[in-house]
Amino acid sequence: MRALRLDTIGRPVVSAELPTPQPGPGDVLVRVRAAGICHSDAHYRAGRSASLVAPVTLGHEVAGEIAALGEGVSSHALGDRVCLHYLVTCGRCAHCVAGREQFCPSGKMIGHHRDGGHAEFILVPARNAVPLPAEIPFEHGAALMCSSATSLHAIRRGRLAPGETVAVIGIGGLGISAVQLAKALGALDVYAIDFDEAKLALAERFGAVAIRAARPGVAASGAAAGQTDGHDPVARLRELTGGRGVDVVLELVGSPVTMRQAIQMCAVHGRAVIAGLSRTPMELDTYRELLGPETELIGSNDHLLAELPLLLELARRKALDLTDVVVRSVPLEADAVNGVLDALDAYTAPLRTVIVP
Ligand SMILES: [Zn+2]
Ligand SMILES: [Zn+2]
Repeated sequence: MRALRLDTIGRPVVSAELPTPQPGPGDVLVRVRAAGICHSDAHYRAGRSASLVAPVTLGHEVAGEIAALGEGVSSHALGDRVCLHYLVTCGRCAHCVAGREQFCPSGKMIGHHRDGGHAEFILVPARNAVPLPAEIPFEHGAALMCSSATSLHAIRRGRLAPGETVAVIGIGGLGISAVQLAKALGALDVYAIDFDEAKLALAERFGAVAIRAARPGVAASGAAAGQTDGHDPVARLRELTGGRGVDVVLELVGSPVTMRQAIQMCAVHGRAVIAGLSRTPMELDTYRELLGPETELIGSNDHLLAELPLLLELARRKALDLTDVVVRSVPLEADAVNGVLDALDAYTAPLRTVIVP
């Protein structure tokens, strides 16, 4: 089979001819119909992940059809449409049994710790292959498996209840899903915060109230101070909510500035969910922003296999529509995929490009 291999970290991926893997007991072989190219893939190629070992086939956002069944697999049939949960876990440890398998000590991510979907075929345990309803195109099924699933997990971590209000900071692939999912799960009002007018316009089409943020680098840390381009999203959100703030804030950017803004946007008993990656320490006024209003600061890490059926049902009903997110496809060719990875590195890529082999 053909696959795009990351042979050497820091170098472009290369096209390779590999033996088609044979499913062992409990495995399924999936013919890839669509595989997303994610910002994480650009990080992996560049060597910004300590746990990646080359050579490896990238690609953790995968949808396709069952092409072969390993011994003992009765849950799937040849030709079934599936999309793949990207974390392969043991299924038996305390974390797996408790339904928080992203902490499984032997967990391995496809396209990172084991071969992924930037190939004609991929091998996974049968329980990682989730049925993909016929109404959802393969391209959308692939994209659902990463950013949308992570947004749903963040909303669930925030314990959003029907009738509550939500702010989403950062309207990229995660944010556009988060706006739609918050609406679908009963949010009364959803505020979308970004500095990019086009992304805000897209969020408005899904029913969000747009709030313009300051460009990165303009906003100084701390409450509303130093935002010299005149856009203070915390003040604007307070104004729009009559001073109250919102019940759940999803921080999807990964900067100490937006993390603090997330806390500052919270109503009394609000929950600030941090899902953007950053290792930079953040500041907060512990009395005024945390203890006083009994704000909760909540981390959100990845997503769970158990969340995927609801996610797929919402997509089947078009309550979550990725038509404006999955905007481009490329063939399974090294030059095309390296070009997309270059654009992701330069932050000039469209929302999501998928490989259609
Ligand atoms: Zn991804
Ligand atoms: Zn486990």
